[in-house]
Amino acid sequence: MLSVVGIGPGAQDLLTERARARISSADVIMGNERYIELIKDTIPGSAEVIIGRMGTEVDRAKKAVELGKHKNKNVVVVSGGDAGIYGMAGLIIEVMGDSDSGIASKLDREIDMEIVPGITAASASAALLGAPLSNDFAVVSLSDLLVPWSEIEKKLEGLAKMDITIVIYNPKSKTRTAQLEKAYELLMRFRNANTVVGIVRNAEREGCEVVITTLKDLPGYYHRIDMSTTIIIGCSGTRKLGARMVTRRGYERKYDYERGDVNEEDEGIAVSPAPAAGCGYVDAGNRVWEKSKAIVRDIVSKYQGSLSLSDLEKRVAGRVVFANADPSFLDLLVFKHHPVETGIRCIKNGKMIITDIEMVKAGINKRYSKKVQCFVNAPETIEIAKREKLTRTAAGIRLAKEKRLIHGNIVIIGNSPSACQEVCALVEKGGASEEQKPALVVATPVGFVNAAEMKEKVLSMGNIPCIVIRGPRGGTPSAVAIINEIIEIAHR
Ligand code: SAH
Repeated sequence: MLSVVGIGPGAQDLLTERARARISSADVIMGNERYIELIKDTIPGSAEVIIGRMGTEVDRAKKAVELGKHKNKNVVVVSGGDAGIYGMAGLIIEVMGDSDSGIASKLDREIDMEIVPGITAASASAALLGAPLSNDFAVVSLSDLLVPWSEIEKKLEGLAKMDITIVIYNPKSKTRTAQLEKAYELLMRFRNANTVVGIVRNAEREGCEVVITTLKDLPGYYHRIDMSTTIIIGCSGTRKLGARMVTRRGYERKYDYERGDVNEEDEGIAVSPAPAAGCGYVDAGNRVWEKSKAIVRDIVSKYQGSLSLSDLEKRVAGRVVFANADPSFLDLLVFKHHPVETGIRCIKNGKMIITDIEMVKAGINKRYSKKVQCFVNAPETIEIAKREKLTRTAAGIRLAKEKRLIHGNIVIIGNSPSACQEVCALVEKGGASEEQKPALVVATPVGFVNAAEMKEKVLSMGNIPCIVIRGPRGGTPSAVAIINEIIEIAHR
């Protein structure tokens, strides 16, 4: 009886029951030193242990087949992980086929052979990282000892062009280092540099290390990558959520749930742009989204306007230019009293965001949506509007004040000049007690009536941090762009 047994990544409790049973009843056990060491406690004292070296696999496979012909001898060949994944199982079947002029079935009858599956490095590493293999993935070995590099490179290139997670086995050895560097160059050519990458060394073994990084930062970890390392290159659906790496399965398209997520338009850590429907192929030349971001970065860096912007302000300004596809917003944006830093602090401290209209609320990054409130449609708002002869949006701000939700929070006016006026009035009336002072005001109301005037008023509102788009232009997209950039910076 010949059993080809996958012993899993290393941890004793990840050895399957069947694998343990085969090993503990073995008369002869074959494997390389490392694997034998990992299961030494399970090997019976009576078993003959045959240790093989790298490069002697064919001889070992032949010997195993030969010994396995003895009906009353339990011969066990062990492979790390799963014996059928870059392991001994395939070779043993080939050797069996060979020894019988290619007719494996006859030999099958002669020798009782079974393959016992094990937990492969991809599963073990994925579990340590989170769930990066929740969607389609491909596995590639970078070892060119048996396969010519040109063939490996061709497969890698095909996969790099596809929007699919790639698991890399055999990334690097002491003598084989160039392959990983070449693979990196190839991936960088076709994938977003911010793609999430997971690196797991010695999964489920002593010396286990787990790293989540991005594709562009992968070279910084080369020195920690060796033959006991598995690398998982995410795809556009892969995210880093907290300390975990996860690839979306698609539930988010069908169901509404809290994702701790970034908006589709966000510059999330992982994302290349979602491929066009039915395309499933991210071509470097077609990366409209990335190109657009690069153009915006270029525009902002070359901006020669009268105001000098800090790096953080440039990011926010760039986001407004991006959202509107209009560089002239750089001349209209005003940042007063370190508003970006203040906004970041507010977000980090979980402060509320009050918006003038529902559309602004709807556009705010989903990861912060629980903290956003808009009162324009509240029943009390309508009462206030009637009683005080205010617009509904202004009454919404008044209600927020009555609920004591203005003080210390972020107020975003993306649409309504009258809501803007209400904010200014509150601040003026707040006076010495400062009990109605917002921490930050983002004012981008739009229109020819009163919008420009109200925004100037915001700018003259004492020392309250504010971000304003001067003149009649602005609107919801600009307001949302500003706050979403701040939220993203705060979360990084
Ligand atoms: N049959 C094995 C794979 C053998 S190829 C399996 O199914 O897991 C050897 C490669 O597997 C290594 O170079 C490494 O990339 C990966 N590997 C094996 N064990 C690993 C472990 N414990 N941690 C991380 N990677 C591992």
